[in-house]
Amino acid sequence: MIINFSNFKLRNELLKVIKEINYIRPTPIQIKCIPLLLNKYDVLGIAKTGSGKTASYVLPILNSITINSLQCLVLVPTRELAIQIKDNFLLFSKYLKFKILSLYGGQKYNIQLSKLKNNPNIIISTPGRLIDYIKRRNLINFNNIKFLVLDEVDEMFCKGFIDDVKFILSNINVKHQTALFSATICNNIKNIIKKFMLFPKEINLLLNKKKFDNIPKNIKQYYCLFYSYNDKINFLINFLEVEKFKAVIIFVKTKSYTLKLSNLLQKKGYNCSSLNGDMNQNLREKNINDLRNGNINILVATDIAARGLDINNVNLVINYDLPIDFKYYIHRIGRTGRANNIGKTILFINKRDIKIVYLLQKKLNIKINKIYPPNKNILLKIRIKKIMNFIEYYINKKNNNDFFYKNILTNILKKYNFINNEKINLILLNFIYDNLFLNKKI
Ligand code: AMP
Repeated sequence: MIINFSNFKLRNELLKVIKEINYIRPTPIQIKCIPLLLNKYDVLGIAKTGSGKTASYVLPILNSITINSLQCLVLVPTRELAIQIKDNFLLFSKYLKFKILSLYGGQKYNIQLSKLKNNPNIIISTPGRLIDYIKRRNLINFNNIKFLVLDEVDEMFCKGFIDDVKFILSNINVKHQTALFSATICNNIKNIIKKFMLFPKEINLLLNKKKFDNIPKNIKQYYCLFYSYNDKINFLINFLEVEKFKAVIIFVKTKSYTLKLSNLLQKKGYNCSSLNGDMNQNLREKNINDLRNGNINILVATDIAARGLDINNVNLVINYDLPIDFKYYIHRIGRTGRANNIGKTILFINKRDIKIVYLLQKKLNIKINKIYPPNKNILLKIRIKKIMNFIEYYINKKNNNDFFYKNILTNILKKYNFINNEKINLILLNFIYDNLFLNKKI
């Protein structure tokens, strides 16, 4: 039987938005979770990255709450996720009058305080900032909470948040529904979590014929062997040259390396920024928005970007440094291939660590194919094409009075017949590429 959103008997105001944003059918996790949450069950929802988990709780919550008081609390592990989920609530409540607030560290207290005094109906928060408000200011009244959601719940319980979460939960003494979501969850955490729920319904869409099936099929996974530090950086630069990406996230291990690598790529002419937990909040938000809006197309990030971020144009994820465990591998690569879009991932791996690829494949029941860094011929072709396009663009540019360069470029074009002549002088080509094109000296 084909299920449509209209089968859920949601408010017209919600169905109207669903139509406007062109969600044709609910995704499998939505088909399972929306009716359960509407029927007042507690739910533990486990499904692949990018499979529509957010709407599977946002819709039933917006369908069930009223505008009278604070009725929903959503806890998330990162600030970026708090903002993104708030945006989801805002999107779906376009025709409803709910007050929605996100709280997170790094944002000024006075801004958040004035919004808190405005009696929000829904709060999306990271644990730390919420505890601040509970302990110091006693400003939040949980007496009417109907829904508690923990998104990326395993992260919330693993990453030292467990006491914070327990403290928050101990402040919510009214009967409410609890919904917990993640793409990864182990049995240990599952047992702890279930203590916070009442007869929960577990929806696990990862179990496929008794084998784990965690990763969307539309993500093509590769690994690339490198032998030295120089290899690694050169391979990365070469991949960036040939891969057709709209936006790419490059994951590295340390905060300082996000800056170092992004500076290096900027110097090579790429529109690139970094993201790490030491950066101030405004910059973090700006860099994420820049990637979302296409102002930049490369983000070099620590694992702070690994969980939950939904940026549709990310069609390439590069694991430049190894993830700390297989869960992080799943979440990192899940930043691409969202909502059934095609995605590609490349894991850089030292020859000594090749067994990690075999382990990942075995543990996650996936195939990671070997990929070789682009060879000289491919690079040459790509460079010729790029330079040709650039030179033509430059020559044809209106109001371009820079006759000096214009003449040089026109002569180069004529003399070397870039398109047809494969024997082109490689040194000259690379010189032009490095000095004129990448460094944007013209
Ligand atoms: P999520 O897993 O909640 O982060 O969602 C991943 C992506 O899927 C987001 O970009 C959503 O806008 C999109 N999405 C969620 N539900 C649907 C649906 N029913 N139809 C089409 N796209 C959807």
